[in-house]
Amino acid sequence: MYHVIILGSGPAGLTAALYAARAHLLPLVVDGHEAGGQLTLTTMVENYPGFPDGLMGPDLIVAMRKQAERFGASFRSGSATAADLSRRPFRITLDGKVEECRTLIIATGASAKLLGLESERKLMGHGVSTCATCDGFFFQDQDIIVVGGGDSAMEEALFLTKFARRVTVIHRRAKLRASKIMQEKAFKNPKIDFTWDSTLEEILDVNQGKVTGVRIRNLKTSAITDQVVDGVFLAIGHIPNTQIFRGLLDMDELGYIKSHDGTKTSVPGVFAAGDVQDRVYRQAITAAGSGCMAAMDAERFLEHAGH
Ligand code: NAP
Repeated sequence: MYHVIILGSGPAGLTAALYAARAHLLPLVVDGHEAGGQLTLTTMVENYPGFPDGLMGPDLIVAMRKQAERFGASFRSGSATAADLSRRPFRITLDGKVEECRTLIIATGASAKLLGLESERKLMGHGVSTCATCDGFFFQDQDIIVVGGGDSAMEEALFLTKFARRVTVIHRRAKLRASKIMQEKAFKNPKIDFTWDSTLEEILDVNQGKVTGVRIRNLKTSAITDQVVDGVFLAIGHIPNTQIFRGLLDMDELGYIKSHDGTKTSVPGVFAAGDVQDRVYRQAITAAGSGCMAAMDAERFLEHAGH
């Protein structure tokens, strides 16, 4: 039986692992379906304190993981597929095998949201992507659409200009949600243009098995236009990875776990850290901070429970 199982290996999970390991709790970290979390899908991180020149997201994750390992955290690949939180020890099913733990830290993060189009699902990986860092390279000198108006969309668009001939950002409103600095960078880039008040009606062409264009609907005029493009990158936000905890823990209407008094959830002994409980800040540094809090909360819980 584990003192603590940590689900998720982004900055929240890895910081929780570091603190739990240093408290001699021998944590087991379950990588989850996107090992390393969203930072592994990004490039330069310029706002993580302590790195004045910035550093690459994947490098930051590798360093955090090494640091946690150094103090005794162990890692397992795969994901939790079921949980029984009705009594302690909690029972977590990890790829078919049940493991028991006295405390549980949920740091499963959030995953990219999709538009919900049939063509988007069918062409995913065939010109449709949610990760410019992963797939941008395949679009040398091609025309690309980025959907979204937040920081992620600007970051994806800017990154894609390294490869693409032209990047068109399609946003459903006429005002970006992205931070001022990211907006300015995007507006200044000559390869990026914007289509406002619009959304994708369809991604073409499922019959050819690859992206050849998009059908765009202007939400103000309802006008439909087709645009020839080679790739579609979706950057419209994320949904929390909380499916297996539905009905077991209190969540908000979007499925984010409700935490209180630090990282406590509605079940004593279960703690939540990072994007899985945060729909506001969602930064690597805030995720890491809440991972630290979760490990300390778990340690205190175990002390009071007499372990
Ligand atoms: P976000 O801020 O929630 O933005 C999502 C964007 O997608 C919004 O512009 C939204 O439009 C649009 N959208 C949502 N659903 C849509 C739909 N069904 N169809 C069309 N458009 C849709 O998400 P994010 O950009 O992923 O950023 C998340 C958090 O991470 C933010 O706190 C952000 O600051 C942070 N972040 C920071 C950096 C950085 O500092 N470099 C980089 C990436 C992310 P509306 O605006 O109309 O709602």
